[in-house]
Amino acid sequence: MTTDSPKPTLVLVYQRTSLPWVFESAERAGIDLVLVPRPDEAVSEDRLPPAVVDVLRLDVEADRAGALDALRHRYETNAFQGIVTLYDPAVPFVAEAAELLGLPGIGRDVALGAQDKRVMRERLAAASLNVPGFVRVDDPADWEKAASLDFPVVVKPAHGFSSLGVTKAESPQDLRSVVDEVWQTSANKLGRTDGLVVEEYLDGPEFAVESLAHGGDVRVLAIGYKGDPQGPHFEEGVYRAPAVLSEAVQEDIRREVVAAHRALGITDGPTHTELRLRGGVTPYLLEMGARIGGSGVSHYIASGVTGVDFAAQALRIAAGTATESLGSGPLPTPVAAAANYIVPCGGSGRITAVHGLAELRDDPRVDHVVQMLFPGDVVRPYPDFTGYPAFVLSRHANTAEAEEFHSFLEQSIRIDYTDDTHQEGQA
Ligand code: ADP
Repeated sequence: MTTDSPKPTLVLVYQRTSLPWVFESAERAGIDLVLVPRPDEAVSEDRLPPAVVDVLRLDVEADRAGALDALRHRYETNAFQGIVTLYDPAVPFVAEAAELLGLPGIGRDVALGAQDKRVMRERLAAASLNVPGFVRVDDPADWEKAASLDFPVVVKPAHGFSSLGVTKAESPQDLRSVVDEVWQTSANKLGRTDGLVVEEYLDGPEFAVESLAHGGDVRVLAIGYKGDPQGPHFEEGVYRAPAVLSEAVQEDIRREVVAAHRALGITDGPTHTELRLRGGVTPYLLEMGARIGGSGVSHYIASGVTGVDFAAQALRIAAGTATESLGSGPLPTPVAAAANYIVPCGGSGRITAVHGLAELRDDPRVDHVVQMLFPGDVVRPYPDFTGYPAFVLSRHANTAEAEEFHSFLEQSIRIDYTDDTHQEGQA
């Protein structure tokens, strides 16, 4: 880009300003951002994150048509080159807006396949990928349709994210109550009750995979270990990359993930895939999001492991200015290890103190401590989801050191609660 040509501009939908990576990458990539803040986030226009040149307030969930009109108006009066989000529920909206304005994007139908877990399962199965037995439940009264699956099973909202509501049912006898409970959680917390998916429980450790697609080439950049949660609820915990895996298993994962891009039709942009190694060996996708994962945590991990500015590349693809070919070979050789530790709630009630976080800010291994829950905040018990207390993002010479550091965090971080929350706890 020469100094004469204007910078490309991207509309960035629903990115929390407390998570810095995508803003910093935009600045490095020479891309201006028009930020659409979350409706619940107060963004002060005199203290904007890097690269943000404007703020556009839209409610893409409550007023989709109005939001599309406002974007069209903005585009006609002050054109932008692309639109992007890291927020999973906004992926279909962004794909639709890009399609309507003729901007780069994956298109509405592909976005549906990456966001609706029922459609994703159907498309992966149609392409003969590894898919557990599953049943779609479009009405809670139909719970019995899923009773013929092999138990245990996992019940989840079709449009869920952050493991919200996702619940294991051990036997057909539990199925009805679990379906009812997940339906309620979906209605209360996601505001949507248009369906669930019930699928066989995949026994084996969990991994996340960060990839970039461009012009149909898919480059898998990093595979990280995500723990081995057994349920009944699946609170997220650790993310350590690169995962310690044999070359053969790594290649199996890479192939399955590349094939899933093809099955879902994702040819351009970043993806965040979660999968389990069934029986410790065979990769089965849990889901693939057509976005940078974890509100940017995936950028931190992928760039820490590979040295590639993952978010900058993703933003260039969204702006239509990406030029480099990604190639499609094996994973890049890791240059270091990167990790995220999600502080577990470890209880519920009103938080009175969070111990062990402040001292981490001076730890040379730690790049970011992102605290989201503070003393005074109320944490409701699972399966209700209040949010994560904090992320601790760190870099290490290798994954074994990251694991050791996480053991230390498990011992040193503690949240104290008081039980004075009966009124608010009922919400
Ligand atoms: P969300 O998009 O809400 O995070 P996921 O499908 O990723 O939903 O499920 C959340 C978590 O639940 C997964 O990370 C995994 O730990 C667990 N899970 C979901 N489906 C299965 C399954 N079929 N077998 C085992 N665990 C599962």
